[in-house]
Amino acid sequence: MAKTKTNQLHRVDIRGMDIDENSKAVQISIDNYSCCVNLKTTPCNYGNVRYWFECPYCCGRVAVLYLGGSGLACQKCYGLAYPIENKSKSDRAVESGFKEENV
Ligand SMILES: [Zn+2]
Repeated sequence: MAKTKTNQLHRVDIRGMDIDENSKAVQISIDNYSCCVNLKTTPCNYGNVRYWFECPYCCGRVAVLYLGGSGLACQKCYGLAYPIENKSKSDRAVESGFKEENV
C-alpha cells in the first residue's frame, strides 16, 4: 500500500486556531466532520502557555492533526510520509535494534 502523503489529508494546525484561555478542549469542524479534541499546555515565556492538540489515538502532544478516513489523528498514527522522504540514520538504528530484540 502506498503511503499517504501529508498533503493529501486535511491539515489542522493549532497555531492557526483561536484558543480561549483555559480551554481544555476544542471543537474541530471540517466539512461534515466534527470532533472534540483535548488540549494540552506547556509553559512558555512571559507566563503564557502554549497549546497543543492531544491526538485522539495515541494521546501524544502534537501541533498538527490530520483528518483522514479514520477521523482526526496525528501524523504518527496515520503513518504518514512527509512529502519529501527523509529517513534518518537514527530511525534505521531503531528498526534494526527492534529486530534484534525479537530474535
Ligand atoms: Zn497519534
